[in-house]
Amino acid sequence: MYTGTLFIISAPSGAGKSSLIRAYLQQNNSYPAKVSISHTTREPRPGEQHGEHYYFVNSKQFESLIDKQAFVEYAQVFDHYYGTSIAEIDQSLLKGVNVFLDIDWQGAQQVRKKMPFAKSIFILPPSLPELENRLIKRGQDSQSVIQKRMQKAKAEISHYNEYDYIIINDDFDISLKALSSIITAASLEQPKQAMIHQPLFADLLSPN
Ligand code: 5GP
Repeated sequence: MYTGTLFIISAPSGAGKSSLIRAYLQQNNSYPAKVSISHTTREPRPGEQHGEHYYFVNSKQFESLIDKQAFVEYAQVFDHYYGTSIAEIDQSLLKGVNVFLDIDWQGAQQVRKKMPFAKSIFILPPSLPELENRLIKRGQDSQSVIQKRMQKAKAEISHYNEYDYIIINDDFDISLKALSSIITAASLEQPKQAMIHQPLFADLLSPN
C-alpha cells in the first residue's frame, strides 16, 4: 500500500507553481516530499540540470520509453513531449514519501484514470495581465514564446473544474499556507495513518 500521497499540481506557466513547490520543500515539513522529475524532449533553459529539473532526452529515446510502457502519463506540450515515469513515483509512494507531479491538465487526466487516489491541485494567477507580467519578469522566454504561453493559459484554465483543490496565487505566503494545509490533510487520512502507525494502534487497542 502507498503510504505517501500522490499530488498532481497544474497551473498555466507563470502562475507560481514551481516557486510554491520549491518554497514548500524548503520549509520544515512533517511529511517527507519530493517532486517527480519528468522526462522531456525540450531543450534545457539556462541553469537547468539533467536529472534535477528534468531528464532531458531526444524524441527517439522518449518514444522508446513510450513503447516500453515506462510512463504513467505523457503529453505533448508546446511541441515537445513531457512524461512521468512509473519508476520515478512508485518507490517513493511505497516508502511514505509524498510525490508532487508538476504536470499539465492532459497528464492530470491520464494520472487520475490510472491512480484515482491522487489529489489534484490547480494554481491560478489573480488575473491574465498579472500572469503576463510574471512571465515577462521571469525573463526565461522570448516575447513570441510568452504570447504562445498566454494563448495556452486560457485553454489550461478551462480545466479548473477537474481538480480537487484551487489556489489563487495572489499573496505568495497565503498560497503557501494553503498548499501546506492540503498536503497535511491528505497525509493525515485514516488509511495512511493506520498503516504508518500500526504498532501504535496495536498498542492502543491491546486488551491490557
Ligand atoms: P516547462 O517547459 O515550462 O518546464 O513546462 C511546460 C508545461 O509542461 C507545464 O505546464 C508543465 O506542468 C508541463 N509538464 C512538465 N512535466 C510534465 C510531465 O511529465 N507530463 C505532463 N503531462 N506535463 C508536464
